[in-house]
Amino acid sequence: MSLTEKTNQIKSSIPANVILVVVSKTQAVKKIMEVYDSGHFIFGENKVQELLDKYEQLPKNIQWHLIGHLQSNKVKLIAPFVDLIQSVDSFKLLQEINKQAQKNNRIINCLLQLYIAKEETKFGFNYPEVEQLLYSEDIKKLKNINIIGLMGMASNTDDKSQIEHEFFTLNTFFKKLQISNPSIQILSMGMSSDYTIAIENGSSLIRLGSSIFGNRI
Ligand SMILES: *Cc1c(COP(=O)(O)O)cnc(C)c1O
Repeated sequence: MSLTEKTNQIKSSIPANVILVVVSKTQAVKKIMEVYDSGHFIFGENKVQELLDKYEQLPKNIQWHLIGHLQSNKVKLIAPFVDLIQSVDSFKLLQEINKQAQKNNRIINCLLQLYIAKEETKFGFNYPEVEQLLYSEDIKKLKNINIIGLMGMASNTDDKSQIEHEFFTLNTFFKKLQISNPSIQILSMGMSSDYTIAIENGSSLIRLGSSIFGNRI
């Protein structure tokens, strides 16, 4: 099956209200173009340098999401064009995104990344930190960012009930926040191995790499 067909197949198998982000990290420009040619324009990268290289080489109507840990000193490189930063994991980073967005005369959309997995290696806020941040006075001063949702990565495990529990808990928190924060609209959860569980638990955006391109080498 071609990558164009594969993308269309996955798109037709997920609910229409779930956004697909094709994770193109490590993939060659030629392969990304095969997905693009299916009419798909939203791609995600986890490293700034790789994102810049691909931004240069690929069509300018692509919406680029940053999905990996972002260092404050690299924000300026992506601020002119990035569509959504999914991996905001500190207030300091938000301040820097706001500053660089202002310089570029833009408002940059952001998701707050929550730490929901059992592993030690994943970045993100915990639940009380997100509540504290969203209700703080400090956040109101940042006029050039727009927090439009939350992102989380479940544990890397075969234990489906563990993954389900993590997604369910994040969705419950998301729905609670939405009551007083109407701008919170997107719940980014689910990758190739767990996206069906994520969708069952309220995901509105999935990030798929290997289920489209095959396993990364
Ligand atoms: C690599 C990556 C994905 C995609 O992973 P697959 O298992 O290839 O679907 C999704 N989200 C993040 C944050 C990633 O780094």
